[in-house]
Amino acid sequence: MADDSAAALLALLCVQDLDTAVAQLHHRRAALPERQQLAEVSASLADVGRREEELQATRAGVARQQADMEQQLAAIGARRRAIEQRMYAARGASARDLQAMDEEIRQLGHRVEEMEDAELELMVALEPLDAELAGLHAEHGRLEGLAGSLAGEVAAAEEEIDRELEEQEAERRAAAGGVPPDLLGRYESLRGRLGGIGAARLVGNRCSGCHLELPSMEVDRIHRLAPGAVVTCEQCGRILVPQSGTGGA
Ligand SMILES: [Zn+2]
Repeated sequence: MADDSAAALLALLCVQDLDTAVAQLHHRRAALPERQQLAEVSASLADVGRREEELQATRAGVARQQADMEQQLAAIGARRRAIEQRMYAARGASARDLQAMDEEIRQLGHRVEEMEDAELELMVALEPLDAELAGLHAEHGRLEGLAGSLAGEVAAAEEEIDRELEEQEAERRAAAGGVPPDLLGRYESLRGRLGGIGAARLVGNRCSGCHLELPSMEVDRIHRLAPGAVVTCEQCGRILVPQSGTGGA
């Protein structure tokens, strides 16, 4: 009976160690550095994407202006050709009419020169936009590649941790089988309230749960109890398992 109870306490410590290991694995899984890096790269990708959109909108505006000018230039060209045809066809036109047509052609020629200059300026304005866009596209590609490999690393690390979790959880189920249900229930409720630790070792005079020293009289009292007696730390309330004489765990 005492042996069974002592074995139950050792099994309980085993359950506690496995629960701690499982909690650490969950923490490691949630705090993977690759996941943090991936989040940073994704944020940079979003920034680059926004800048690309802005620049593309600016570039589209310039390109639209350019297209407008091309259209106007074509219209002017057509108008000039029409006047020229009229001039050459209308031999009987008055000198005044001919002069007026000549003057309009001259003005249209000026207008074409002005617009061609302006169009050249627009083309010059496009150059740095295109250069910056090319740089952003390259950065976009580089970041996407990085995000892809980080996502792969996160998945691999998660898979590895999940395998460990499965093993530890299976061991935990086996160890819990050696603990009577009422003791296990008490442990679970303590663990829930006390930061994941419901069972602690008494190492020398110290409780491994709260790390405080117990009064010597209390330690003596615990060691005089029958092996397997369930004791709690008077300071933190955790189930306290003496180390000496139990074979240690
Ligand atoms: Zn304690």
